[in-house]
Amino acid sequence: MIKIDNLHKHFGKLEVLKGINTGIKEGEVVAIIGPSGSGKSTFLRCINLLEQPTEGTIWIKGEEVTSKKTNILKVRAKVGMVFQHFHLFPHKTVLQNLTYAPVKVKGLSKKEAEEKARDLLRRVGLAEKADEYPNRLSGGQKQRVAIARALAMDPEVMLFDEPTSALDPEMVKEVLEVMKSLAHTGMTMAIVTHEMGFAREVADRVLFLDGGQLVEDAEPAEFFSSPKTQRAKDFLQKVL
Ligand code: ADP
Ligand code: MG
Repeated sequence: MIKIDNLHKHFGKLEVLKGINTGIKEGEVVAIIGPSGSGKSTFLRCINLLEQPTEGTIWIKGEEVTSKKTNILKVRAKVGMVFQHFHLFPHKTVLQNLTYAPVKVKGLSKKEAEEKARDLLRRVGLAEKADEYPNRLSGGQKQRVAIARALAMDPEVMLFDEPTSALDPEMVKEVLEVMKSLAHTGMTMAIVTHEMGFAREVADRVLFLDGGQLVEDAEPAEFFSSPKTQRAKDFLQKVL
């Protein structure tokens, strides 16, 4: 589904990604973990071209998205993204948050978009919140709306950047449950997370980033029980 070859990203003189090679298979759930500042967000943001890679090639479903000819908006339409701080449209209702892009970008009729939006809201357990404004929702509810909004575009892949890091502890679970059920539908997912229990349980693979390098790429059972590198051992000792 995604292939990443020799991905480098510089911000001025700072080299944040130092040649990452990896891939994500269709239906695979990949957890991306590593210390703060290791380049996890930048890595995700390069995949949907929120950041322009300095060097390297990324393919999504066989299409080279780093090519100069690529329509960035088309790429973003097939790659859903969920952020730590939700990024909902505050002046739109929940339903309008979900219908805006499908109508505007995908050309769905208002009726089609609303039907789909209501289905998705049911899936994330928020059918009764369709007409609320985001500021009337809890953090966990906002994040579930954000997930539903991303799904409304029928993405091929979903990227999550610390989706539960801004939530009060009692709301983490409801968001992780939604993500877990999404994983069970076969969605291809890449998730930057500090929820090690979730990574261990739900992910098919763990990518461990440190200092802009992909230091380990392993199955969760293997990574968490016998990390190969000292860097991963040190990290796990701090977080587990
Ligand atoms: P992580 O998500 O793993 O915490 P980031 O990808 O956010 O790491 O950041 C990696 C490094 O890149 C950090 O040193 C950060 O300060 C730097 N960085 C990230 N975004 C920018 C930017 N837009 N401009 C300059 N430096 C940035
Ligand atoms: Mg980050």
